[in-house]
Amino acid sequence: MPSLRSRIALALIKKKLPEIVAADPLAELGDGLHIAIVGSGSPLPDAKRGNPCTLVIAGDKVIVVDAGEGASETINRMGIDAGLIDCLLLTHFHSDHIGGLGSVNLQRWVAEGSDSPMRVLGPPGVEKVIAGYNEAYELDRGYRVEHHKPDVDPAIGAMVAVEFPVPAAGESDVVLEEDGLVVTAFEVDHSPVGPVVGFRFDYKGRSAVISADTVYSENLVRASKNTDLLVHDALSEELLMMVSQAQTDAGNKARGKILADVLDYHATAPQAADAAQKAGAKALAITHIVPPLPLKGLEDVFLADAPDRFDGPLWLASDGDLYSLPPAGGLKRSNLIGRGR
Ligand SMILES: [Zn+2]
Ligand SMILES: [Zn+2]
Repeated sequence: MPSLRSRIALALIKKKLPEIVAADPLAELGDGLHIAIVGSGSPLPDAKRGNPCTLVIAGDKVIVVDAGEGASETINRMGIDAGLIDCLLLTHFHSDHIGGLGSVNLQRWVAEGSDSPMRVLGPPGVEKVIAGYNEAYELDRGYRVEHHKPDVDPAIGAMVAVEFPVPAAGESDVVLEEDGLVVTAFEVDHSPVGPVVGFRFDYKGRSAVISADTVYSENLVRASKNTDLLVHDALSEELLMMVSQAQTDAGNKARGKILADVLDYHATAPQAADAAQKAGAKALAITHIVPPLPLKGLEDVFLADAPDRFDGPLWLASDGDLYSLPPAGGLKRSNLIGRGR
């Protein structure tokens, strides 16, 4: 005989389940450009932040930008049905940006309404990554087709890579133009790693820029001219060096060195603020937060003097944060976590 607590839990979930499964938070968003942070962390294990992933919603078009580990789980917690995903854009091929691709594709494949393979757009290298994923998941696709036929379509289980050339220095290239949304790519500076591109999204007079992983970049500043929202990566040199030193002192020499190397290719929060200020961006959201900030008080240490360097509002992004840019103007912030199924 199940306990009273179990019986109550079962009754509750029975009552709530139809409502949860049928929920459609996108319908409540209304028209406009919406940027949702799925993962605001980095490859460093972080209890509060997932690996990098952002959703761009323009009208009823849903685009995923990068898919770190855990991306599909958080998308689900945000209440967004993977079947709505139109395509995926990759900024570069560091593991923290691609580790969740297989799961995002699987969830989209088996969702109601998917009738085409997921396109994955990216700079040179995307074909290799997607071919590798498709091969690694080949047996899995076979199992599922055999087991669930005819309810899974074998023709759409594998992803399709769409490579675009790296834009020339100082230039932005349109890489996607559909349903009123224009996506342009521009190169950023994550050296020694490359190519790496950032993306700008323009829809119904509103715009947002996703920096990808970069140090302060003039290319990014040019591409972000007067944008409504700049989403920029950042690290804290002070906190990262503290973690690096602690690892070295504990005898983890290699880890200490790798952590110190991370300083080479990410901006700090004050540099992200400088980029936003110079671009004339209206608002700045800082993501890809390195290192983790387990105590609330560390957020000010992380930001340092960034808030003084940028005239607009500046936020440290959290997983699930949504920035809405309706065609009529303004910016509304909310958080989608907890509304999911
Ligand atoms: Zn990277
Ligand atoms: Zn990264």
